[in-house]
Amino acid sequence: MPRRTAATLATSGEVLRLIRTGEAVTRADLGRVTGLSRPAVQLRVGELLERGLVVERDDAPSTGGRPPVRLEFNASGGVVLVAALGASRTRVAVCDLAGRELEGRDFAMDVEQGPDVVLPLLMDTWDELLGGRPRSMIRGVGMGVPATVEFAHGRTESARVMASWTGVVIPPIIRERFPVPVLVDNDVNVLAIGEHRGTYPDLDDLMFVKISTRIGAGVIAGGGILRGALGAAGEIGHIPVLDGGGVLCRCGNTDCVDSVASGTALLRDLRAKGKDVKTIADVTALVRAGDAETMATVREAGRRIGEVLAGAVNILNPSVVVLGGDMAEAFGPLVSSIREVVYRRSTALATRRLRIEPSRLGSGAGISGCAVLVLDHVLSPDAVDETMKVSILRRDRVASS
Ligand SMILES: [Zn+2]
Repeated sequence: MPRRTAATLATSGEVLRLIRTGEAVTRADLGRVTGLSRPAVQLRVGELLERGLVVERDDAPSTGGRPPVRLEFNASGGVVLVAALGASRTRVAVCDLAGRELEGRDFAMDVEQGPDVVLPLLMDTWDELLGGRPRSMIRGVGMGVPATVEFAHGRTESARVMASWTGVVIPPIIRERFPVPVLVDNDVNVLAIGEHRGTYPDLDDLMFVKISTRIGAGVIAGGGILRGALGAAGEIGHIPVLDGGGVLCRCGNTDCVDSVASGTALLRDLRAKGKDVKTIADVTALVRAGDAETMATVREAGRRIGEVLAGAVNILNPSVVVLGGDMAEAFGPLVSSIREVVYRRSTALATRRLRIEPSRLGSGAGISGCAVLVLDHVLSPDAVDETMKVSILRRDRVASS
């Protein structure tokens, strides 16, 4: 980064970023890194201390004399409210500013009940989980929903998965009760963000594939989530496979990988073969028992998914493909046939260093991803400077009234 000139003096938000990342941990460091004068550093640090975003520690090692006061990001200086909504399972939590879960609760909730039922329930749960913490501690809200989301507005677009949510703009509804920034993304993007930050923070290119009731992917490219023009990037479930047999997909096309290899498709095909299966867990039991017909059906699904992933790997050249969702977690044969097809069908260069790994965080990636989503926004230098301006205005107004 070029050294800052007087024209681009580091703001309080930028100073917070330096403290948070550990690039500068004392006032002297801040002066050196930013080129700010001592009084200017003092002013910015004072603002951050007052806002509770930074704390002072008196324990730094020193070569002699009085040790310099260390500045630390104060992860307990606020909370974010997060919710990872799934088609059938939802987790709601309150996290600190480092994204650590402080309180959380699981729900078996049918999101198809619609926003009028689900959103008030979420907000009531956040209120309960907050306990005695004052509302002023809430810095933001982060949510993952099982639908395509136009990210900039938090508007759900997909009519197929959450019919009752189509066109709903979620943030204003939440802000009526919690007047803070509200960020909404699709569930698989949130999983990709969580797995990236939690397990592979040093890799810039990762693809997270969720294989469950439906199939979808979240893509980290060049270190950030790839959303595409309207938020529909990574919707690999509706890429068609070759020779799928003409299966009609719920999207209206035929032979989408979702319609031939998702959990829903697997249950349908196994029932057609006379198997008594109602849930993915029933299929898992048959796989464990070594049922040959079930194993063959699961392997075939893996090959279909592998076919589509091979194309995605060619386009995106990720370092790692993470396989998550309850089907990937349960089925060894599924994962091995995906691996086999991807390595066989992707280009040599794209697979030279490619790793295909199971998700390490499991469903926990949803909550961490939601926390990262909102924290990256509310702790960004611009957002921090904006809240400083607002609080200074308020203070001046109080002082002059
Ligand atoms: Zn489709």
